[in-house]
Amino acid sequence: MTDHLHDLLIVGGGPAGLSAGIYAARDGLDCILLEGRVPGGQLTGIAEIANYPGFPGTVSGFELAEKMRGQAAAFGLNIAAEEARGISRRNDRIEVACAGGVHAARAVIIATGATLKKLGVPGENRLTGRGVSYCGTCDGPLFRDRRVAVVGGGDTAVEEAVFIARFAARVTLIHRRNALRASPGLQRRAFGEKKIDFCWNSVVREIRGQERVCGVVVGNPGEAGEMREIPCEGVFIFVGSAPNTGFLKGVVDLDEAGRVVVDGSMAASLPGVFAAGDVRSGSVRQIASAVGDGVTAVLRAEIFLGVHG
Ligand code: NAP
Repeated sequence: MTDHLHDLLIVGGGPAGLSAGIYAARDGLDCILLEGRVPGGQLTGIAEIANYPGFPGTVSGFELAEKMRGQAAAFGLNIAAEEARGISRRNDRIEVACAGGVHAARAVIIATGATLKKLGVPGENRLTGRGVSYCGTCDGPLFRDRRVAVVGGGDTAVEEAVFIARFAARVTLIHRRNALRASPGLQRRAFGEKKIDFCWNSVVREIRGQERVCGVVVGNPGEAGEMREIPCEGVFIFVGSAPNTGFLKGVVDLDEAGRVVVDGSMAASLPGVFAAGDVRSGSVRQIASAVGDGVTAVLRAEIFLGVHG
């Protein structure tokens, strides 16, 4: 337990947290950022980013995260590889509990992002790392000339399917409806990729394989109907994400999806606590919007702290 009281504590080392950290460190705040187990957050799993301003062509998520982190460190931001487990307010102190102890600050920005959801079907857990993956960047190249299934119809699934198609012999995109949710530009890329075929109106019921994945069983979204097996050696699952707010339950107001409810200045229901990026309710969940949220949150936190007019 520390007696030291920071001005600001930022929880999360993705684009929202790092942007807030860059401003806080540059503005001379006594600030610590807890980056958790994965520096860069969800960014690091993205193979190619084509719509982040200032990077014409593409930039990898890993490279962008490294640049943001390096920029924050160059301003002197104190970055710790710790994960928040609980948060509470004691008078003017907001205390954030981690495995190794407690950090205290006068204001806190929650920027813990989200974690990819699981399908919850038989075979998924057992075969994770044995053909089941949640990261195209990390595992896509392992499936060179193999047959792969990608599950989901949003931006992530479609973007990753296009990336994995560079390596795989064939990519079958399995979606529970007959129209993709992904943006029109990404859809065009997927429909134009000869190696990708589409399995519409289908949900995965089981992932099969002994030592490694050998196929997925798909059926209709409803209960009834025939099942069929699609042979494949890899299954990439991108069916949305859940906010990392388990440690905030009962502390700040969360919406029905578990995201932190904020006002226009990113302030949460507990005074001195702000939220930014994918973790906050109403986010459009883009890298650029996470950066904007982080900046809004830190400038509002500075007003709360009385260091910014
Ligand atoms: P998402 O937009 O929530 O899409 C999740 C997809 O998975 C949907 O197509 C959904 O089907 C499907 N799905 C959900 N649960 C399912 C289940 N149990 N079984 C089968 N399918 C299921 O998630 P996302 O694609 O990860 O994107 C998250 C956010 O990041 C979005 O705001 C997105 O715009 C953003 N993003 C942007 C980019 C980019 O700009 N390049 C790239 C990646 C992500 P339905 O469509 O039927 O609901």
